[in-house]
Amino acid sequence: MRINDPNLLKRLSELSVELRPAAKLSELTSLGIGGTTDLLRITKHDSLPDLLAFLDENHIPHKFLGGGSNLLVDDGELPWVVLQLASPEPDVVLKGNFAHVDAAADLGRTVTFCAKHDLGGMEGLIGVPGTVGGALRMNAGAYGMQIGSYVREVKLYRSATRQIETLRGHQISFEYRHTSFASDDMMLAVILELPSKPYTEILKGIRICNEKRRSSQPLGQKSAGCIFKNPPGASAGRMIDELGLKGLSVGDAQVSDRHANFFVNTCRASAKDMLALIASVRERVQKAYGVALENEVVVWNA
Ligand SMILES: Cc1cc2nc3c(=O)[nH]c(=O)nc-3n(C[C@H](O)[C@H](O)[C@H](O)COP(=O)(O)OP(=O)(O)OC[C@H]3O[C@@H](n4cnc5c(N)ncnc54)[C@H](O)[C@@H]3O)c2cc1C
Repeated sequence: MRINDPNLLKRLSELSVELRPAAKLSELTSLGIGGTTDLLRITKHDSLPDLLAFLDENHIPHKFLGGGSNLLVDDGELPWVVLQLASPEPDVVLKGNFAHVDAAADLGRTVTFCAKHDLGGMEGLIGVPGTVGGALRMNAGAYGMQIGSYVREVKLYRSATRQIETLRGHQISFEYRHTSFASDDMMLAVILELPSKPYTEILKGIRICNEKRRSSQPLGQKSAGCIFKNPPGASAGRMIDELGLKGLSVGDAQVSDRHANFFVNTCRASAKDMLALIASVRERVQKAYGVALENEVVVWNA
């Protein structure tokens, strides 16, 4: 979708929005898949309520992009614009055991920055790409921990009230790759409370997690991490592996031969290829195990 009308462009600039016309989502997502649309970079949180009202009034649908590491975006010209927060400087401020973090901050850099100041707990998240906002939305986690456990406060734009509000940790429920935020709430900033730990000890944990990822995940290839959520008490990857589906492909979309729940784009996979591969694997698992696998990857259909 393109915004060409000079009046609309003028208003966007008044709202401190930087417009990147015809952005290629394939260049902004870790899967390397996705068509083209206008990207609106938000440089001031306070302008969000007016910006969203403006988009509504002008019938311009939107989606919200973090780091693009958990997304499968449709091909071709996309029928909505994409909003993304620009990261302020600094994007992490520490006050005692509390880390005040902007939602646009890179998750890995945030974990390392806190670690260097003897604040631990998030070692498992090292190697999870994307932003802190995306991690909050997905309740990102690994190796027995999840970001939600450390959340004390979230500043967000709430679609229900159309205002920027602050929620306390106990007002939000964080479950396995699921949160109680409404689908069009936008995370703007978070306060994390992290346990004190010596840097050397945190570093040991980080190295262990890094090694586990290196030995089991196709890190050099384009992926979106795990495609399916693990069903209660079971492992999606193990079921796919047991069915001998590693290496199965549709066009350039392939079930990784390192980790059966990672689907990779080996060259120029389209969203159509990837969706067909997902459907095929889901159907085979359903037939063999009677389990309906649920997507962990977020699909943006045109
Ligand atoms: C190699 C690899 C390994 C991975 N390992 C893990 C893992 O171990 N554990 C894990 O949990 N995930 C993992 N992931 C998936 C992914 O990195 C996480 O889900 C990550 O937290 C997504 O953040 P993002 O900023 O990239 O979000 P995006 O992919 O940009 O968006 C994901 C969803 O969050 C929404 N969103 C993004 N930012 C905001 C915001 N500020 N406000 C509101 N909504 C927002 C988007 O609209 C979308 O619905 C992995 C991915 C890769 C490629």
